[in-house]
This record gives sequence, structure tokens and C-alpha cells, in this order.
Amino acid sequence: MVTCTRRLEWDAMHRIPRHESKCRAFHGHRYAAEITCSARALDGLGRVIDFGVIKAKVGAWIDLHWDHTAILMRDDPEAAPIAEANARLGRPVYWLDASPTAENIVAELARVAQELLRPHGVSVERIRLWETPNGSAEWTR
Ligand SMILES: [Zn+2]
Repeated sequence: MVTCTRRLEWDAMHRIPRHESKCRAFHGHRYAAEITCSARALDGLGRVIDFGVIKAKVGAWIDLHWDHTAILMRDDPEAAPIAEANARLGRPVYWLDASPTAENIVAELARVAQELLRPHGVSVERIRLWETPNGSAEWTR
């Protein structure tokens, strides 16, 4: 199987409620996602999908919902002041039902990317989400 992979990056804040150490505090990351796609057949130009389509669809969604805001757990008891401030400042918080670990963020991104790229005839096979240069989580179909 031939696949293609597009890397997308953004900046966001999160915290991990009940974390044993410093990750329970609000802090930021330069997230990077490597989105790997497959298709039944290559297109007329020999591509799975143009890299630019992944950027235009998934990258635009990330820019709108995740870049320069906070990704927080809906039930986080510390989140209300951040949510109020960011809403006032024009960058509403993105709520997850689960704790915003790399594992849960990559699962959310997989759900979104599959929905956005399905109309373009490709399947999302794998996403690796880098939370730090040394730590990542991977979702596979
Ligand atoms: Zn973190």
C-alpha cells in the first residue's frame, strides 16, 4: 500500500487534571501531527491526495479550533476562568469530553480528519501526534 503523510503544526494550551506532577498546571505545546492517508488507487497525477488538500481541510480546521487557544476537559474544575477569558478574547476554548492527553487529542483529530478527507476519496490510516519533540501518541485505523 502506498500512503502519503502531511505534517501540520499548531500552538495550544492544555492541562491534565489529576496529573501526578507539573502537567496538572496550565501550559503550552507546539503540537505536530503527521497525518497518513491511503487511497484505493493513485490519482491521474500519481498521488494519494495532494498534500495541499490535507493542509487546506485539516490544517484549516486546526487553525480555527485549536491554534492559539486551549484544549481542555469539559469537566475540568479549573477551566472556567480560562474559558471565559478566551471567549472574550476571541479564541474560544476547545472542549474534549476526556482529558486532553496526546492520546485523546490524536483520537479527536482522527475523528475530524476522517470526516474532512472522506469526500476526497482517501482514508486516514494513521496519525502521530507529537506533544513534545520526544513524546508522541499514535492513532491507527
Ligand atoms: Zn502538556
